[in-house]
This record gives sequence, C-alpha cells and structure tokens, in this order.
Amino acid sequence: MTKALALVSGGLDSILAARLIQMQGIEVIGICFTSAFFGSKNAEKMAAQIEMPLIVVDFTEEHLKMTKDPKHGYGKNMNPCIDCHAMMLNYAGKMLEELNADFLITGEVLNQRPMSQNKKSLDIVRKESGFEDKILRPLCALNLPPTKMEMDGLVDRTKLLGISGKSRKQQIELAKQWGIKDYPSPAGGCMLTEPQFAKRLRDLYSHGKEKVEPIDIKLLRIGRHMRISPDARLICTRNESEYGPLMELVKDEYLIFDTADCSGSTAVLIPSEAGVFSREDIMFAASVAARYSKEKEKDSVRVKFKKKNDKEYEYIWVKPVGDEDIRKVLL
Ligand code: SF4
Repeated sequence: MTKALALVSGGLDSILAARLIQMQGIEVIGICFTSAFFGSKNAEKMAAQIEMPLIVVDFTEEHLKMTKDPKHGYGKNMNPCIDCHAMMLNYAGKMLEELNADFLITGEVLNQRPMSQNKKSLDIVRKESGFEDKILRPLCALNLPPTKMEMDGLVDRTKLLGISGKSRKQQIELAKQWGIKDYPSPAGGCMLTEPQFAKRLRDLYSHGKEKVEPIDIKLLRIGRHMRISPDARLICTRNESEYGPLMELVKDEYLIFDTADCSGSTAVLIPSEAGVFSREDIMFAASVAARYSKEKEKDSVRVKFKKKNDKEYEYIWVKPVGDEDIRKVLL
C-alpha cells in the first residue's frame, strides 16, 4: 500500500493536504516538530481530527542554530521560513525509509505568503531539502509541474487541487465539508512570526547570539523586557503569575530586584557578559522595580537585590523611573 508522510504544522492547510491524500486511499502518517519557538499541541489536535497517527520530533538545538543565521534570511519578523521548511523536509525525508513511506506531503499553497511560498521559494525549499523528487504539495499541485509520484501513478493528479493566493475561502469551505473544526489562525503557534517576540529576539541576537540557549528563548516570553544598556537587559514581571516561571529560568549570575517595603514587580537584570554589571545598570534596574510597585508615586523607594544563591540582600534607595525613560528602553 502506498504510504505518505505529512508535515503537520498545526494549522489548517497541512491537515487538508493530508486529508486529501487519505481520500485517495493512501495511508498517511503525520510528522510535526517542536523547537524553542513552537510546540506540538496544535498539530496533535489537528491530526486527531482526521484520525492520523502523528510522530513528534524535537529538533530544538539544530533549529535554534539555524535561526541565528538563516541562509535565506528572515520573513516579515524573525521567521526564517524557507530554511525552516527545508530543514523539516530534510528531517522527514530521512525518515521515509525507516517508516516504509513513499513520499512527503506539505500544506504549502502557492503565493499564500509573499516571501516563503512564491514559486521561487517553493523551488528553493524543494532543492535544499535534499528530497527533491519526494515532495508533493497536494493543495497547489495543479499549479506546479507533475511530480514523480503523480507520473509513477502513486497519486492521482486529477484529485489534487490548484489553490493559490492569500484567500482562505477554499480551505475554509473544504474544512467545513470534511468536518474539520477548531483550527488555529495561519502560522498561529510560531513565535518567530510575532512582532513583539521578534523585536526581543533581534535584540538578544544582536548582543552575542553565539551563546543563546533554549532557556534564553523561554525567558523572552515572560514579562516586560528592556534593553537598558549595551551590556544589560532587564525583565520585569507584569503580574504575580509570572514570578514562578521567571524564577525557574533565572541563572546564578543574574541579579534579582524587589521593593523592600511594599509589594510590586520583580525585576531581573541580565548581563550580556556573564556577571558584569555597571553601577548605572543596577541603579536603573532598582528604579524600574520601584516604578512597578505600590510606592511608585514616592520620591524615594527602598529596593533590595541579590543573586539567586546569595544569602544576604543589598539595599539601595532610588527614585522610581518615569514613563518616558521606560518607553525608551522597552522592547
Ligand atoms: S512560520 Fe515558523 S514554523 Fe512555520 S516555517 Fe516559518 S519559521 Fe518555521
């Protein structure tokens, strides 16, 4: 029996592509990826809707490395979609033999995204994947030359589609017809496409990307972020629920600031170079902790700070930082 391996992103298109191939009587197995920037929750939910088994592959390390210097650059935000697609297809392609599968399916639609899904980009992805002859794009196949799978009779080309462009009308109609509900927005779930996350990541990479680890990426999702000097970043909790997750990610060399005499946000000062803080950075971090506390209207607020494993706090008095100064450093 013919068997296909379908890349599942967690969005609607990849599930429609898999379903279209299932409807030709071909066995389809799904594969999805997890990294520092996206998980598998949506993919699992979507695969279950078409009763497709799903393999989850964690390629965090390799994917993170690629995002620091993608060969084909970034899209609108920090999303290196061309390199990312090629990497996923390469991983999946290497699993074809082991799974006894014949070819790969993707949910790509010609011209749906101006940079990563135009004809030229689709060709680059195909070539760079290393599995050029094994990739079928069922949703837009009729806009592309026939693949080997179609020519060899593994797949019936007349039952494939010719969708192109940004409109989602046809996909939404198909989902309705096939009883697929509860799907996320396109690209939903990939943080690299989110403008605010991208701004923080750009800042992180521009101050020594070589050392960035998955834990640093997790930190980008919590609290308010500020670039307070070329050598220091500051993260400040926005509410009580952020405190626990932030503390779990704090490294030994970071400085933790809290107001000493009232409740407020916790601020964490992160050096670009391990352990190096200037006096100005410390004063500014303390004044931010004071700014987001119950004493923010006072002229002088007492703030305590220490490293995670220090026993004793140091104390300083600072004036809460003003709105304009905060705006200048917010990421
Ligand atoms: S949106 Fe994110 S997960 Fe999807 S191809 Fe682009 S970078 Fe990769």
